Amino acid sequence: MSLIANKILKHIMPRGLFVRSLLILITPIVLILTITSVVFVDNHWNRISDRFAETVVGEIMWLSDMVESSRWEYTDIEGYGRSHLELDLKYFDGASLPPAFKDHGAWERITRKSLMRALDKKTKRPYRIDISNYREAVFILIQLDKGVLQFEVPARRLFSSSAYIFLLWMGISAILLITIAAIFMRNQIRPIRALAKATEDYGKGIDPDEHFKPYGAREVRQAARAFLDMKERISKQVAQRTLMLAGVSHDLRTPLTRLKLGLSMMQQSDDIQDMKQDIVDMEKMIDGYLDFARGADINEPSREYELGSYLQGLVDKYQSTLKPIHAEFESDLHIRIRANALERALMNILNNANKYGSEIWFSAKKVDMPYSAYIEIQIQDNGPGIKTDDWDNVFKPFYRVDSSRNAATGGVGLGLSIAQDIVLSHGGHIILKNSEHGGLNVSIELPL
Ligand code: ATP
Ligand code: MG
Repeated sequence: MSLIANKILKHIMPRGLFVRSLLILITPIVLILTITSVVFVDNHWNRISDRFAETVVGEIMWLSDMVESSRWEYTDIEGYGRSHLELDLKYFDGASLPPAFKDHGAWERITRKSLMRALDKKTKRPYRIDISNYREAVFILIQLDKGVLQFEVPARRLFSSSAYIFLLWMGISAILLITIAAIFMRNQIRPIRALAKATEDYGKGIDPDEHFKPYGAREVRQAARAFLDMKERISKQVAQRTLMLAGVSHDLRTPLTRLKLGLSMMQQSDDIQDMKQDIVDMEKMIDGYLDFARGADINEPSREYELGSYLQGLVDKYQSTLKPIHAEFESDLHIRIRANALERALMNILNNANKYGSEIWFSAKKVDMPYSAYIEIQIQDNGPGIKTDDWDNVFKPFYRVDSSRNAATGGVGLGLSIAQDIVLSHGGHIILKNSEHGGLNVSIELPL
């Protein structure tokens, strides 16, 4: 039950922190205002209105009785009403009441009800209330024995404008408060946004803006500082690993060359031939290490490219060395990449497809998902493919499905590891699938 409620709440809650925090601020303000207004209007305003109405109706009834009893001259009563009570009288001899007047909006209704309550309490005479022009005056008509007596009551004797002003000020102050809160909130959220952007960039292999500095509330600054420290640590570690791999590989080269030279001086035999082959294998491995080390090179700056033409450029460059290749790239795929590193990754995959298949399919397109978009690059072949069980394994360094030293396919087993390393450093993923063309489908997703 609560799970469903949670889900619904998640669905209707806005996603942004700014709107959420604003909502947290606004909801109580609006609630308090609504409750106060309702209580105020319902209670206080009704009571004030009743009091006003009772006074006016008392005077009206008194004047009506005076007119009815004809103890005074009508003109005297009229003069008395106008000068002392602010009530304008008009007597329609022989007339009878018109049909009931139409009711109006909510505010008028409060006054009308109060007047009716007071009139019902104080008289049995039929009456009509015309409240259509309530901003200036309210007309009350009383049926006397021989005619109708009309009273024009000025609005200010029935309404208290202080109530309007009170509500108006409440509204204005609420708007003022919310505006100030929104401005403050916006400033609080800006450093969080900057941090999110910097972290996201770093995940994509883009160095965060050099102007990025921890600022804002203490906790946000703390998080930003922690991020910068972490970034520094990771960069250092990667740099160290790269440096070590490159150094070891480089240092091994010289003795290997010496060995090779020595072996070629010796009397040729099958044993010597085998040893020579071993050295060739070792050289291949060292090339692999170097490639691996270079693949993770985070010193190459990332720049914005139009991926379609970048990939087409690769195809043009390598077409002559590859089997028939079907390229299909969408245009307008703008993305930040480290061009050399990505080229190394793609070439490793293309070389695999080239080794195992007789045709290659190379495509790139944009995929739009709710809240995220990415570019999907696919390299497919019509070779034997890889068994599902091995999909995870082939990304491990030195893992090869066919471990025989087949001259045509023999590799070190680093190609896919290098490719994955590079794709990950772009914040992307690399996934294997079965290709519709019969072989392997290597799918790369790069976030936008
Ligand atoms: P390297 O690329 O380092 O020269 P490699 O090609 O053997 O060596 P990976 O590219 O990492 O190494 O590939 C690992 C293994 O995955 C390969 O040995 C091969 O068995 C299998 N493999 C890779 N791509 C394909 C493919 N397109 N079709 C069939 N099998 C493949
Ligand atoms: Mg390979």
